[in-house]
Amino acid sequence: MKCTRCREKAVVALPSHTAGFCPPCYLLFVERQVQKAIKDKKLFSFDDRIIIALSGGKDSLALAWQLKKLGYDIAGLHIDLAIPQSSPIARDHVERFCRAYDINLSVLEMEKLGLSIPEVRKKIKRPVCSLCGKIKRYYFNKFALDNGFNVLATGHNLDDEVARLFSNVLSWESAHLGDQGPLLPEENGFTRKVKPLYRLSEFETANFCFIAEIDYGFAPCPYSGGASFTYYKTLFDELEHKQPGRKLSFYEGFLKRGRKAFTRLDLEEGVKPSPCKSCGYPTSEESCGVCRIKHMLEQS
Ligand code: SF4
Ligand SMILES: [Zn+2]
Ligand SMILES: [Zn+2]
Repeated sequence: MKCTRCREKAVVALPSHTAGFCPPCYLLFVERQVQKAIKDKKLFSFDDRIIIALSGGKDSLALAWQLKKLGYDIAGLHIDLAIPQSSPIARDHVERFCRAYDINLSVLEMEKLGLSIPEVRKKIKRPVCSLCGKIKRYYFNKFALDNGFNVLATGHNLDDEVARLFSNVLSWESAHLGDQGPLLPEENGFTRKVKPLYRLSEFETANFCFIAEIDYGFAPCPYSGGASFTYYKTLFDELEHKQPGRKLSFYEGFLKRGRKAFTRLDLEEGVKPSPCKSCGYPTSEESCGVCRIKHMLEQS
């Protein structure tokens, strides 16, 4: 197969775009997908201060690489969850990556904040991923606001977004459907959140890291129980195989035509957040989720 752009030998075939690319043209393809996402959805501009949530996985590092190359004002934030089997490997990749590409990095250590995830898991009898997710969202948002960043960018890709959308549709989570998308504007004490990789699949970001020689972390979290999301991704991969381009058209179709119906529902049913009585973080209850987790840890 020849490169669609320059007719050299192609190394990546993309049936969803009826195209194939050689290595330099593939990097250009990814760059253009990211630029299109930023422009079409008005995610941010060169005047914004962007903090990127760096997990050490392929997507967050690919995002930082691309935004740095495009010249945006970025810095990285890594949350060290203190999980012995995976956190040191993830942190090491993030630190080496940021050194190599001269990206300013901050690391928040959950152990020092009394929130090591193995401790949380041992002491609180609730699904650990939901607790861990709350803690990460809290500190990403708080760090951004406390340090003058007005945009928080995450490396969610098309497969993540489609699996989440499908999961929300299966249980008709109207509030979550109203919220889902590559841009959540700043409001009620939450910083603007953006997902510039939403047009790229996992296959595409993995190939990007390979061609750009980005060394990403591989150690899976031992508590990962994302069986349903993984299953939905497999289902959509099968669909994509039969109908190339279906994932992106499903997701874009939702953003254009589906989401507004749920945004209305969300507004009607929603409760406006107010500051947490202990830490000031926006919450719909008296105390925010993280203060409640800290309280439960103290009591255990
Ligand atoms: S798999 Fe669950 S516990 Fe592990 S890092 Fe992800 S959210 Fe946290
Ligand atoms: Zn080419
Ligand atoms: Zn709080």
